[in-house]
Amino acid sequence: MTEPHPDDDGSTRTDRFCEAGYLLLTENLRNDIRKLDDRVTPYHVVDEIICHLAEHDDTVDHFAIVYDHLPGHDSGAIWTRWNQDPPTTVFLLPDCTSCSPGIGKPCGLFAAHPGNHTWEIGG
Ligand SMILES: [Zn+2]
Ligand SMILES: [Zn+2]
Repeated sequence: MTEPHPDDDGSTRTDRFCEAGYLLLTENLRNDIRKLDDRVTPYHVVDEIICHLAEHDDTVDHFAIVYDHLPGHDSGAIWTRWNQDPPTTVFLLPDCTSCSPGIGKPCGLFAAHPGNHTWEIGG
C-alpha cells in the first residue's frame, strides 16, 4: 500500500515548471547579451538563470530567459541553454505565439519549445 504523493491530484499532465538552475548570470554572459543587441538596457538583464520549461528529463536542455525587454511586439527574447555544464552562450529566439483558449494568456516561452506552454502549467 503506497501513500499518494501530497501533490498528486490524479492528473497526468505536467503541471510544474522545471526551475532548474538558480545560477548567477556570469559577467561573460552579461557582456554577450549586450553584444547581441545594442538596445539592451543592463537594468533589465536577469541576475539569476532559472529554467522556464515545463518539467523535463535530461535529454532536453534547460532554457532560461535572460532578457525580455527588447522593443517591438515581435522582437522575441534573449535566452540561454545548458545541460550538465553551466550555460556559455546567449541567443535571440522568437516568441511562442500560442495563447490559452478563452482569456488568451500568451505563452512565455520561445517558438517551437519542448514541452507544455506556460499557460498549460500551474492553472
Ligand atoms: Zn529545465
Ligand atoms: Zn508555448
